[in-house]
Amino acid sequence: MDGSERTYDLIVIGTGNAGTAMSHEARRAGWKVAIADELPFGGTCAVKGCIPKKVLVGAAEVITRAKSMQNKGIDGDIRIKWPELMSFKRTFTDPVPSMRSQNILRKRDGHILRSRSISRKKHPTGRR
Ligand SMILES: Cc1cc2nc3c(=O)[nH]c(=O)nc-3n(C[C@H](O)[C@H](O)[C@H](O)COP(=O)(O)OP(=O)(O)OC[C@H]3O[C@@H](n4cnc5c(N)ncnc54)[C@H](O)[C@@H]3O)c2cc1C
Repeated sequence: MDGSERTYDLIVIGTGNAGTAMSHEARRAGWKVAIADELPFGGTCAVKGCIPKKVLVGAAEVITRAKSMQNKGIDGDIRIKWPELMSFKRTFTDPVPSMRSQNILRKRDGHILRSRSISRKKHPTGRR
């Protein structure tokens, strides 16, 4: 940190679908926006939710369909090669954080605050 203070109209916490859409709209309305995330940028859907799930479920469906067709015109042992499947999955998920940051910068949707800029404070009751 350089010790300088900045003021914003809005600080968006989270670079998932909701946070990036919010910061984009606020910027379009002329607000001065910052966007923060404590994890690599991209949120749940793109990094560990919807997208990787579709790759893994897709592979499982291929196996299930092939097995259900055994002795009905389809033959042979078909199985998941886990390390290869994980590599394939990562071709979708690994580029997300840098693509998401670049997108935010390109559209000038907000000043990027890296993970520790906003920290989770423990709730006085111990809840988070
Ligand atoms: C396995 C799985 C599969 C899914 N599949 C689908 C699907 O097929 N279709 C579908 O529509 N939805 C699916 N979802 C749901 C979808 O991922 C979520 O609805 C969506 O990601 C929510 O977006 P969001 O922007 O609200 O939150 P998120 O994408 O979760 O983003 C929140 C971000 O905020 C950050 N954050 C939170 N608190 C702080 C803090 N205090 N300081 C800094 N950063 C913080 C987090 O690190 C995170 O990156 C799936 C979810 C999972 C887990």
